[in-house]
Formats: sequence, C-alpha cells, structure tokens
Amino acid sequence: MKEFWKGAIKFTRALWYEEAQACVFCGAVGDLICPTCTAGYLHPELGRCRGCGKLILKEKTSCLDCKAGKGPKHLDQVTAWGHYSGGLREFIHKVKFEAHPRHLMEIARPFSNWAISQLPAVDGVVAVPMHASRLAERGFNQAEVLASAIHWELGLPIIEGIERIELTSSQILLSRHDRLHNLKGAFAVREPKLIIGRSVWIVDDVTTTGATLEAVAEVLRGSGAQTIYGLCLAAGLEKKLVPLGD
Ligand SMILES: [Zn+2]
Ligand SMILES: [Zn+2]
Repeated sequence: MKEFWKGAIKFTRALWYEEAQACVFCGAVGDLICPTCTAGYLHPELGRCRGCGKLILKEKTSCLDCKAGKGPKHLDQVTAWGHYSGGLREFIHKVKFEAHPRHLMEIARPFSNWAISQLPAVDGVVAVPMHASRLAERGFNQAEVLASAIHWELGLPIIEGIERIELTSSQILLSRHDRLHNLKGAFAVREPKLIIGRSVWIVDDVTTTGATLEAVAEVLRGSGAQTIYGLCLAAGLEKKLVPLGD
C-alpha cells in the first residue's frame, strides 16, 4: 500500500510538472512559451504599426494601409502581442470556440508585461463588449477575460459603461470599409461619466483591419475619452513582409 501511495505521489508530481512547464501554444515541456513559439508567433524582431497594430519591420512606424490613410482614426496607438497564425491562432480558437477562457489567465503575465512595455499606462482598460445574445451563447467574453488579466497583473482598473447594442453579422468576409459600415451603431456608451477625460486601453483578442477597435474608439471619443489605445493578443502581418510561419 505504501508503494502505491509513493507511486501515486510520483505520478501526480509528474503531471503537475508537465502542466506547469508546458508551452501554452505547442505543449513542449520547458517554458510557458517556448523559444520556437516566441520566434514563430510573437516575433520580437518585428515592430507593430502604430495605427492598426499589424506586424511590420522594426524600423517602420506604420503599415502601408495606415500610411495611405486607411487605418483607424480614433486610436492614438494600437499594438498586438503576436501574429494571428499557427499556435497563437489555435490557442485563441481553443479559448473561444472550445470554451476554455482559463487559458487566457495562463498568458496573463507575459501579455500584460509586454503591453506595458509598448503602451503608456492609462486610467483603465475597456474590454470590447459582446452583444448579450452572443454572450449567452458563448458564456463569456474573451475580451473581458483579457481585461481582467491585465487588471490582475498591472492593477489597471476595468472601465465599464460601454455596451454592444447591435448584433452584427460576421466580419470575416468583409473589406475594411464594409466592416466599419457593418459596425455603425453597434456600440454605445451607457455611462459617459466613466469615460470623460479618461485615457484607456481598449482590449480585444484579435485585430485584422482595426475596424472593431475603431468603432469602440469612436464612441469612447464621442463620450470625451482623452487618449485611446488599442491592445490585442494577435494581429495580421504587413502584406509586403515575407510570409512568416503559416
Ligand atoms: Zn511552443
Ligand atoms: Zn497599420
């Protein structure tokens, strides 16, 4: 019996070790984010377009779209932790579509540390709100979980008082212009007194054209927000860059 318990403890420890030390993206034993996934999805060697968060060459400050005036107008700066591809994309899909919001807490520290190294500190964080019917379907809003992670790690207050009043159709197949049109009237500030004069980070999981961040920023600006930054887990990659990973 003693041997059984010894074995059981050893087995539990092995499981714990494995769980505590596996890469969140690929499962390799070692670091929370292994060097291969850091290089493959987080791209510390690349810069981020200040206008839309897209990954660009480090020496540049904006992507071609933003340079051509096609980027968001109401955001002071946007940044994204990594490239929406491979293991990072699968991670986000697992969180959203397999209902595993707790995985977002596993990356709370590296994501928050990275965010505060890229953006100025602010009065608070605003999660991109989800429509009530979608929230009922999914059971959680991943942007809210991310905002909580940042609140937990950096102590920035969560600013509420904005809601999604229109359930929009999927944005996936739409152009940037159509996405912005699709989002017209989607968000509303319920309590402007929580927003006026504030500097905020708008937090979301993924940004591609910046249209969602822009739609939220527009209503925040309309309610007197002073400085507005966008922060996402993942963004696209500048077209002119040689495709990285998949
Ligand atoms: Zn990995
Ligand atoms: Zn851009």
